[in-house]
Amino acid sequence: NTETEAELISKFEILPLYKPREKFAHKGNFGHALIIGGSHGKIGAVNLASRSCLSSGAGLVTAFVPECGYHSLQASIPEVMVLTDKEERYISDIKFNIEPNAIGIGIGLDTREETMKALESFLEINKNNLVVDADGINIIARKKSLLKLLPPQTILTPHPKELERLIGKWSDDFDKLDKVKSLSSMYNLIIVVKGANTVIVYKEKIYINTTGNPGMATAGTGDVLTGIITGLIAQGYEPLPATLFAVYIHGRSADIAVEDYGYQSLIASHIIETIGEAYIDLF
Ligand code: AMP
Ligand code: MG
Repeated sequence: NTETEAELISKFEILPLYKPREKFAHKGNFGHALIIGGSHGKIGAVNLASRSCLSSGAGLVTAFVPECGYHSLQASIPEVMVLTDKEERYISDIKFNIEPNAIGIGIGLDTREETMKALESFLEINKNNLVVDADGINIIARKKSLLKLLPPQTILTPHPKELERLIGKWSDDFDKLDKVKSLSSMYNLIIVVKGANTVIVYKEKIYINTTGNPGMATAGTGDVLTGIITGLIAQGYEPLPATLFAVYIHGRSADIAVEDYGYQSLIASHIIETIGEAYIDLF
């Protein structure tokens, strides 16, 4: 019953989606992205996502983290603004006084009860475009009633373990894609099935990415993808084109970086450094 044709995503499909930057542009044209995540010992995930979000072209980026993340973020990324939760070590109450154009949420969050409640309360009032990753997905998988609180065309970016928590075990790749398609259709979600040859599913549509390499099998590379997708939506890309573009650019950046670092030495920060080259390589 997997009758849908899959579309391969290569430079040819991506280039027409690209939004050129005009001479008289100012940062207000490229939106304000908000990255919400982190817990004690996992602030690095927010660092990676915020930096990749900036490098994808977002005009402004704010990070929302527990208090313990404040100094490290301010000291390590001068371009990023930082808002903090009242709790020192985890997120307990997601409140902010800015009006972001896109929100990436879930990286490094932890799944403790207080944070689960904070995510639920946030989803009840949120009207923003969302990208949900990592523990954001794990929390939703634990409490499936949160799925119906996600805004239309929310993007979920599970790796295989997170996907299994979300849809249960699958028997083969066809069964997996059928389950993902049903979830996507039922809740109007864009689901990024990460791995070698990442697959993007939106309702009955399936897109297979052609960039990326095994050097990406290392800590934090998923956080970089979350930042890029969030940054593209903040800039005005619609959720599906933003997702396709981000997955392609993320893999291409890693393909460029691996030429210098090799598969073993490549780390997530290298991928952020080559996002610019991946953009330039489009032309
Ligand atoms: P995460 O597990 O959340 O850090 O995400 C890992 C990222 O690296 C995803 O974007 C995957 O698609 C990518 N990735 C992991 N392993 C491979 C691989 N063997 N080939 C290509 N991409 C990979
Ligand atoms: Mg991840």
